[in-house]
Amino acid sequence: MIANEDPVIAESLWTATANPTPPCPPLEGAAEAEVAVVGGGFAGLSAALHLAEAGISVRLLEAETPGWGASGRNGGQVNPGLKEDPDSVEARFGPDLGGRMVALAGDASDLVFDLIARHGIDCAASRPGWLQPAHDAAGLAAVRRRVEQWTRRGAALSLLDAPATAELLGAEGYVGAMLDKRGGSLHPLNYALGLATAAQRAGAVLHGHSRVVSLAREGAGHVLQTARGRLKVRRVILCTNGYTDDLVPALRRTLVPVRSVQVATAPLSDNLRRGILPQGHAASDSRRLLLYFRLDPQGRFVMGGRGDYGTAGTLRQMELLRRVSCKLYPQLGEAEWAHHWGGFVAMTADHYPHMDEVAPGVMAGVGFNGRGVAMATALGKVLADWAAGVPAAALPFPVTRPRPIPFHALRKPAVRATVAWYRLRDRLGV
Ligand SMILES: Cc1cc2nc3c(=O)[nH]c(=O)nc-3n(C[C@H](O)[C@H](O)[C@H](O)COP(=O)(O)OP(=O)(O)OC[C@H]3O[C@@H](n4cnc5c(N)ncnc54)[C@H](O)[C@@H]3O)c2cc1C
Repeated sequence: MIANEDPVIAESLWTATANPTPPCPPLEGAAEAEVAVVGGGFAGLSAALHLAEAGISVRLLEAETPGWGASGRNGGQVNPGLKEDPDSVEARFGPDLGGRMVALAGDASDLVFDLIARHGIDCAASRPGWLQPAHDAAGLAAVRRRVEQWTRRGAALSLLDAPATAELLGAEGYVGAMLDKRGGSLHPLNYALGLATAAQRAGAVLHGHSRVVSLAREGAGHVLQTARGRLKVRRVILCTNGYTDDLVPALRRTLVPVRSVQVATAPLSDNLRRGILPQGHAASDSRRLLLYFRLDPQGRFVMGGRGDYGTAGTLRQMELLRRVSCKLYPQLGEAEWAHHWGGFVAMTADHYPHMDEVAPGVMAGVGFNGRGVAMATALGKVLADWAAGVPAAALPFPVTRPRPIPFHALRKPAVRATVAWYRLRDRLGV
């Protein structure tokens, strides 16, 4: 357990229903490899898998076990795209790099489902599409723009009116929705564990319970130190996202960890589940403080939203999620709520993930802003290409220097103030 974790929310529906964790013995003694990956979430596991498949020797060091961080705790919604819409990405980064970023993010869910199929990963993957219901006129305008921009680029999205939205949700109260056929859902921890097994089969060496406590330059390479081991490598990839510690303090100051929480029922009776998301869609709505919800294959209703830093505030948020769920689906009033948990996402100041070169030969891939099932997998592949020697200019994502967030020490009150401001704007529809 790390300093900013909370025992109240460390166990989840996903840990309760997980496949066995593949053996990942701690690093002991001295070892060498071409590449070290720090962090065993989707980004790190994808990087290790793609490096091993390219025949490059790689060792992954994870402080706990693969999937222990956000990757094993999330809503399992496989949503393509970045937080910003494609036109904004291209306007900011230009048509060439921006276009490649849009293609990478748009194809990210294809990559996830292809990896699952290619490696036979047992993670309840399902792909009926991602539904983004709009809660008000401003939300509807935003999803309309999103549908128009992606459709112009040939993606399979459509705009639904209020009755069609109510039919797919099995609930009233939304004014329309985006349906993105590229999206779907999965059991996130089992996806992470499957990536770990696939990486091992391809030749990657994975070490659990191996927190990296120091990273130093040595000759032309780098040395990573854990409690009981030492690893010498040529290049380092940092994939620590919302769990970034002080291994590289400058990296930590580029990120604001924010807690997201979920609640889930026990499997619902056929009678109760019948009306809920009848075609199996995963939904995350258009609010700034979004609600994301779906059924798992066993008919458990899973609802997620924003948490708080403290235990009491987080438990209050969880109770709010149960109440919101019952308002949306009144039949849930009879359901047994069996699980609640949470984890940390990493927010960035510009809402984009970052590929930050923190030192020559040391690259971080972090800042998925709460949307990392697809994007962290995709960026992990880009990080593997970088470590394999692909020049930065040829990568489909910009390589930047860490840009510390001003007044980072004040992040907790700043997040609380932002959450209150977003809640007000969601309520007022502005
Ligand atoms: C509750 C919740 C719900 C979410 N829902 C969704 C969703 O439905 N769809 C979606 O797309 N995204 C969702 N997300 C976001 C998504 O889970 C993340 O963006 C994604 O998992 C990030 O993956 P990662 O590999 O970058 O980081 P993580 O999975 O967080 O992994 C980082 C790892 O680094 C390790 N680490 C840290 N420091 C060290 C060190 N010094 N040495 C060794 N190891 C270290 C940690 O132990 C951790 O395991 C959600 C997140 C949360 C918390």
